[in-house]
Amino acid sequence: MNTEKKQIVILGGGTAGWIAANLMAVHWKDKFDITLVESPNIGTIGVGEGSTPPLRGFFSAIGVPESEWMNECQATYKVGITFKDWSVKSGFDHYFHPFLSQPDEFSAPAFFHNSFLRRKGIDLEGHPDHFFLATELAKQKLAPIAPPNFPFEINYGYHFDSGLLGKFLAKKAATKGVKHQLATVQDVTFDNQGNIKTLVTDNGEHIAADLFFDCTGFRGQLIQKALKVPYHSCAKSLFNDSAVVFATEQTGEPESQTISTALKYGWAWNIPLQNRIGNGYVFSSSFCDEDKAETEFREHLGLLDADTEARHIKFQVGRVEQHWAKNCLAIGLSQGFIEPLEATALDMVQETVVRFIEAYNQGEGTDKFRQDFNNRINARFDAIRDYIVCHYRISSRTDTDYWIANGNNQHISRSLHAILASWMAGNNITDELERQKLDAYFPNVSWNCLLTGKGIYPDPSQLKPGNDMAHKYKIEQLQRYIKGCALNFKSHSEQLKLLTTS
Ligand SMILES: Cc1cc2nc3c(=O)[nH]c(=O)nc-3n(C[C@H](O)[C@H](O)[C@H](O)COP(=O)(O)OP(=O)(O)OC[C@H]3O[C@@H](n4cnc5c(N)ncnc54)[C@H](O)[C@@H]3O)c2cc1C
Repeated sequence: MNTEKKQIVILGGGTAGWIAANLMAVHWKDKFDITLVESPNIGTIGVGEGSTPPLRGFFSAIGVPESEWMNECQATYKVGITFKDWSVKSGFDHYFHPFLSQPDEFSAPAFFHNSFLRRKGIDLEGHPDHFFLATELAKQKLAPIAPPNFPFEINYGYHFDSGLLGKFLAKKAATKGVKHQLATVQDVTFDNQGNIKTLVTDNGEHIAADLFFDCTGFRGQLIQKALKVPYHSCAKSLFNDSAVVFATEQTGEPESQTISTALKYGWAWNIPLQNRIGNGYVFSSSFCDEDKAETEFREHLGLLDADTEARHIKFQVGRVEQHWAKNCLAIGLSQGFIEPLEATALDMVQETVVRFIEAYNQGEGTDKFRQDFNNRINARFDAIRDYIVCHYRISSRTDTDYWIANGNNQHISRSLHAILASWMAGNNITDELERQKLDAYFPNVSWNCLLTGKGIYPDPSQLKPGNDMAHKYKIEQLQRYIKGCALNFKSHSEQLKLLTTS
């Protein structure tokens, strides 16, 4: 062992632990020795199969091309999410939330123009599905990889098998010098400043380090149990706390999108992998018990008579008050979780690690840097929370107590309240988003897609025709442009096959 190096111990070998291990090994291999300790008896959460575009940045940072990891993790490409049955407004029973790309710079102004004037009462096409390239790629099940003769930046994320991704990242971390130890931690010891000194395993071993990363999932073994950092629950604004999960067979051309379908007491995901489809129903146990949810979900999937075994998962929504406390950084589910509707959790893992490295490099753990870091991560959590809460608050479903309670929910943050008030007053919400710094995670265009996609517009009977200036963008022309751009992309399966040959 290099005695000049300090020690990092990462506790937990789920996706969060292994993402952290790889990033640390890349950025700090000369500064720290890194050991990941995980329990042989406590499993990982075993879900979390959709990502946002920044995951590409993670693989690039650790030097892993798609050809190396995607097949091994049964991964597919993702260009966005379709939301189905979240609204009962005519013409708005589904919409697509796209990952934006460079060609959208031409068509997005038309979206903003039309949707803004429609809110002012002009009868224009304001449904977001007409304006973005990713929507067309998803519709045609195309992969978002542009050929060299179409040299535009295309944004995308992935779907993957989370168990296989964990194994892949563990292997990668080992090649970067990360040590791996199997042990269950039962207790910790502290120094006289209240920092964690050692982890105490169930066979009495003491594991010492300078920095500890809590990646123990919902247990929050270090940040919550040992350091007793307070936890702020979001359960009053986000009711879901349970999921039932099934895999089904992948048949035919895989989708290049996640599909989220609202059901009676929550929503169901459909995540296409190379070899199977991941399905889960996220619901609220305050409105529906496990058996009822499983039956509704089986019905939805056409699996009522099948003997496929379901897995039930409980979760909590909220976050810790400080993600970095004393000499401990919480990463992943231990630091908090805003439910999986927009698949943002791994992005938060990545952001937490990268910002921590930045803050620590600058301030070596001094209070000011710790405080700034915590404020920044909290702001990100809260911005994501507001966006997700908005999905539920503006849903026009009233078919169950669950949807009525969501629609009437008064436990929404002041920031979300201000955005909704600004939207309802017919204003451009850009200023409000900037003022609240809420566009740092979901940009303006995402907020606009969410509100327009669910049909938060004046009643159609109040719309007026509008003049030529109002109608300056022609939907047919935009559609010709978007469909023309889409001609450059291969089918999803064809592109996936190229992974083996690249
Ligand atoms: C229903 C659901 C759907 C989700 N969907 C998505 C999604 O689509 N996209 C997304 O990005 N995220 C999603 N997530 C979140 C995602 O699953 C997690 O962020 C991700 O898997 C990381 O989990 P983790 O590593 O923090 O915790 P875990 O996977 O729970 O790992 C915890 C680790 O800690 C170890 N451990 C625990 N206690 C001890 C101890 N005392 N001693 C030693 N080791 C210990 C365990 O052995 C395990 O290795 C979803 C979550 C849920 C609940």
